Amino acid sequence: MSTYIDQTLKDLKAKNADQPEFIQAAEEVLTTLAPVVDAHPEYQKNAILERIVEPERTIMFRVNWIDDTGAVRVNRGYRIQFNSAIGPYKGGLRFDPTVNLSVLKFLGFEQIFKNSLTTLPMGGAKGGSDFNPKASPHTPGKRCSDGEVMRFCQSFMTELFRHIGPNTDVPAGDMNVGGREIGYLYGQYRKIVNEWNGVLTGKGLPFGGSLVRPEATGYGCIYFAENMLKTKKANFKGKVCAISGSGNVASFAAQKLVTLGAKVVTLSDRSGAIYAKSGLSLDDLKAVMELKTVKRGELSEIAKQLKGVKFFPGVNSWQIVDKVDCAFPCARQNELNGDDAAYLLKHGCKLVAEGANMPSTPDAVAAFLKAKILYAPGKAANAGGVATSGLEMSQNAEHLSWSAEEVDSKLRGIMAAIHDNAYAAAAKYGHKGNYVMGANIAGFTKVADAMLAQGI
Ligand code: NAP
Repeated sequence: MSTYIDQTLKDLKAKNADQPEFIQAAEEVLTTLAPVVDAHPEYQKNAILERIVEPERTIMFRVNWIDDTGAVRVNRGYRIQFNSAIGPYKGGLRFDPTVNLSVLKFLGFEQIFKNSLTTLPMGGAKGGSDFNPKASPHTPGKRCSDGEVMRFCQSFMTELFRHIGPNTDVPAGDMNVGGREIGYLYGQYRKIVNEWNGVLTGKGLPFGGSLVRPEATGYGCIYFAENMLKTKKANFKGKVCAISGSGNVASFAAQKLVTLGAKVVTLSDRSGAIYAKSGLSLDDLKAVMELKTVKRGELSEIAKQLKGVKFFPGVNSWQIVDKVDCAFPCARQNELNGDDAAYLLKHGCKLVAEGANMPSTPDAVAAFLKAKILYAPGKAANAGGVATSGLEMSQNAEHLSWSAEEVDSKLRGIMAAIHDNAYAAAAKYGHKGNYVMGANIAGFTKVADAMLAQGI
């Protein structure tokens, strides 16, 4: 590895010793950049690496809200505005008790390169709160009510609004921030600024949302994987696919796979995993989506209602399959470890495409690369969501709505372009087929060159 990269990582680890996820993400990117950094001494001369690992701005704020019993609750809110060299900050909001600076910095850092790969002008950011909409603060075993979620979102936006804007920073959803939350956040923003604009993406269709945005991350992941299979002259027909998660990304990835003729055998959530040896049907997937987005329940509750489906409590999707061709981790970071990777490889897995951000641990990634299977990191494979958010921004700016076919065809084109750019960048630097290197190099180069051009 170049000594410049080595030194940058050493400094970063010393400065952020309490941020393991951020260190993991930065290490994963920086260690693949040696060929490009060596070929461009101007990057070191202008301290591009030192600058790219430091957020342009980190905002932390208090969020007070009143629960249904009248008690005052206090959470912490964040927005990490990481890099705006190529466009306004763009990245999701996550509400989860695991949210902290380390997690958001890892996500914001990844977002810089992901957004760059989409070919659209979007900088990198991430935000959220340690608020947990899935756990009532006063009634154990219950979720927050809609009213509580609304009051939390309103309070969160009462501070966030001053830091964002349609040409400054455009947040979207992420874990536990779906259509309901985006609606409440947008309603509060509009009241405060007295203006309708495209400041959030993932909005509902009646107020400026884009068709295909809800489906885009899951569909995009499968479009990316289709492009990978094409390099081997293969397709999804008859392929046995394991998916983790059962939220937005997982459910639409599953739906697209089934329509392409694949067999989706697993899904998972916090309660455990379901296994359907002969594959889940589109009706099964519809029932899971309703469970997750309307009833807001757990997979443990639905397994018995679905034919031929077994429930495994407390485990993820990986080690319950007896044969698998493709795996799609679509739940959360570090959910697929070295043992899971070894199990998947032993049971026939030839393709892994990450719908989630950084779901594979470093030893799992190393195992996939060593086995030379088709492996796509999240920043490339799950970029369809943010790309379609970019398309939502364009529609809002034009005051137009495009048809589902138009958006879907643009999404397909963008995923093919991301695939081809990553593939070509890896080949250019002598690592043909290594999508980790290809995605990192292609994503980094565009941002680094923009930073160079704009001076210090
Ligand atoms: P989501 O709708 O909230 O779904 C998350 C899924 O992960 C749920 O099934 C959830 O289970 C499961 N999960 C979360 N924490 C877990 C844990 N500790 N153990 C087991 N399962 C757990 O979120 P999403 O939007 O699909 O996002 C999933 C991943 O994709 C995240 O890494 C996100 O950053 C990434 N991503 C999302 C988008 C997007 O457009 N939504 C775009 C790019 C990347 P429960 O239902 O039980 O909570």
